Amino acid sequence: MFGHEGELAGTRAAVVGAGASGRAAALLLARLGAAVRLLDRKPDAVAGEDAQALTAAGVELAFGEHRAEHFAGAGLVVLSPGVPLPPLRPLLPAGDAAPEVISELELAGRYSPGRIVAITGTNGKTTTTGLTAHVLQNVGLRVFLGGNIGTPLSQYVLDGREADVLVLEISSYQAQYCTSFRPDVAVLLNFSPNHLDHHASMDEYLEAKLNLFAHMEPEGLALLPAALRAQLGDRHITRARIKWFEPTDRFESERLPGAHNQANMEAVYQATVRFGVDERCMREALDTFEPFPHRLQRVGQARGVTFVDDSKATTVDALRAALESIDGSVLLLAGGVYKGGDLASLAPLLRRKVRAVCLFGASREIFEAAWAGHVPLAWEPTMDKAMHRLMTWAEPGDTMLLSPATSSFDLYANYKERGKHFQRVFEELR
Ligand code: ADP
Repeated sequence: MFGHEGELAGTRAAVVGAGASGRAAALLLARLGAAVRLLDRKPDAVAGEDAQALTAAGVELAFGEHRAEHFAGAGLVVLSPGVPLPPLRPLLPAGDAAPEVISELELAGRYSPGRIVAITGTNGKTTTTGLTAHVLQNVGLRVFLGGNIGTPLSQYVLDGREADVLVLEISSYQAQYCTSFRPDVAVLLNFSPNHLDHHASMDEYLEAKLNLFAHMEPEGLALLPAALRAQLGDRHITRARIKWFEPTDRFESERLPGAHNQANMEAVYQATVRFGVDERCMREALDTFEPFPHRLQRVGQARGVTFVDDSKATTVDALRAALESIDGSVLLLAGGVYKGGDLASLAPLLRRKVRAVCLFGASREIFEAAWAGHVPLAWEPTMDKAMHRLMTWAEPGDTMLLSPATSSFDLYANYKERGKHFQRVFEELR
């Protein structure tokens, strides 16, 4: 750990959100000597061993509706990913007593040994972060993979691990409340409407993501998508060197299909060159890379139809990328909790690629308003019924694609459950 025990003695800190990141941040602050209170709206946010470990470290647990007294005397407020600041503002001390407000990432970044590659964007973060870590491991570096996926950065610091490179997936929530976090390489993969329930506007969402670049050193490398050059060109984004990347065909992988993955692979390559990776290393690493499931995952064939599970596609742009990556006619499964995005803009692509759509679950009216008249369209309450319905339209060579462009919470606990259901029905059909 870079900091030393007792460094924050005399500081009173409040950590908001008691998930894995918040719990690790609270323990880290306690280790540094701060007086820590861990807050969560849920009355039973932490129990059992986790609660005992926190209490044993001296962390005070304050669960239930947030109140001003929870923040009394706090000089530092640490937000877990996904916790919005505006509703908390009226509860925080004001004027000279106003606390410093930072994200868990900012806190942990202050105490993290190792060079940092930080990856953000609307789509492709997990794939790109995983591939970056894999490529760097392949050239013999000790890599920590974490942040928004897997292990929180605070936990890495607590565990006293020392990696050569930290490859971090960063959400816009984490980037937004950084004040000094400075990655060596930062990547913005792409940007499209998402999370508008949390961020007040598109511009705020973009600003949140760009904040990842705001504190970089001139020696740093900022990778930005060429597609956003016109939109971003005039802003002051960073002091680091900017490189605009775009899809190329120099790398290929059957398991990472489509132009969007060519952009992802290019970003990975550009991000890793300074760590000694060349094109040959990149190709070798691609040969052994196992992509994460439920992202354009080809699950098999039944009755001449290929089944592709892209349950992780929760945005309109992810669906667009999926359709563009498939040759031949598509039988499309879509629908669920709509998060925003311009569905109508897909009409030309639907006309070109899609034999039929069967919607399932929520948001039927939003999809129908955007797509009716462009493509044969049906609706079923559940995905299994929708799959059977689509099979009645199927012709050999078609691809049945689950790429819902929505969150799964209408019918499932998460996108993984949704994808597993698709794969079970496929097994039945086979
Ligand atoms: P994230 O962690 O940002 O959600 P994932 O790698 O889990 O990203 O992929 C989520 C979805 O986005 C998948 O459906 C995937 O096929 C799609 N996707 C991946 N990369 C891109 C990209 N560059 N542009 C558009 N969609 C993408």
